[in-house]
Amino acid sequence: MAKEYRKFTMTRKRSDWVGARDTTLRGTPMRVNAASANRAADEAQAMVRKMHLDISSQVNNLFKTPTAKNSIVKAPGKITTENVAMDASIASQSRILMNGLIAKWQKKFNLFGNDFAKKMVSTVDRQSSNDLKKATDKLSGGLNIKTDSLSERTRDIILASTDESSSLIKTIATDYTAEVKEAISRSISTNTGSLTSLKQTINDALQGKYKNHKNKAKNVALSQTRNAYSNIAASRMRDVGLDEYEWAHAGGSQKPNQYHVHELTGNTYRLSDSPVIDQKTQTKGKPGDWFGCKCYMIPVITFG
Ligand SMILES: [Zn+2]
Repeated sequence: MAKEYRKFTMTRKRSDWVGARDTTLRGTPMRVNAASANRAADEAQAMVRKMHLDISSQVNNLFKTPTAKNSIVKAPGKITTENVAMDASIASQSRILMNGLIAKWQKKFNLFGNDFAKKMVSTVDRQSSNDLKKATDKLSGGLNIKTDSLSERTRDIILASTDESSSLIKTIATDYTAEVKEAISRSISTNTGSLTSLKQTINDALQGKYKNHKNKAKNVALSQTRNAYSNIAASRMRDVGLDEYEWAHAGGSQKPNQYHVHELTGNTYRLSDSPVIDQKTQTKGKPGDWFGCKCYMIPVITFG
């Protein structure tokens, strides 16, 4: 066990002082910057909004075409074979339109996802390095410990975080466009009303999908930022020989994890020996690993 902190260097004065005592040295918090997490969430949501506005306007334009107007002019309940054939025409036109929009927005989200992930991960990486610098300055008694070098493990974590975030962002476009296409085709095939009421049904569906996926984009961006930060921070801590941390709870959360608040907060754990973070599944991990967890680490060194 001692091996873990032997690597960590302290000033002679400080190590003499702690050497004579049973004590715990406490660093400063390793905690994701809320403003940059929110900025990432805003960017992801703005992109979903762009996609929604484009798809909505193009779908609405389709219903201004003669095909649409001729397709659905009947009064409710008066469906004839002729009308069904015309409905099929608007159905196939909307399918063609949606296939084009799916390809267009998937391509845009593929580029956006890559940029988003690269930028987000490099931001939290820089933050974790700065936060670790502060923590080690305090722990070591002002010894200037280099915290910005990259180990093989940290480099791997950075790559894995980037991959995961970019693919989750891309998935938002995949899911959104697939659901919109499905909703439009279902609205057309089940429509028994006027063109106006069909348009209304479709626009309601578009709004609903937009709201869901905008929220999803926000949650993905926030949780990815938190995860990337805590994984990189933990790896960087180990890079400088820090294994122990105090579990700290972030205030202000709407639905704080009661188990984290009451059972884990304030305790000291090791990165090399993670505590259970979810009682039901007995999953082990560190702050930030469990879904929606906003807890964070304060690096510590225990003596005695
Ligand atoms: Zn938590």
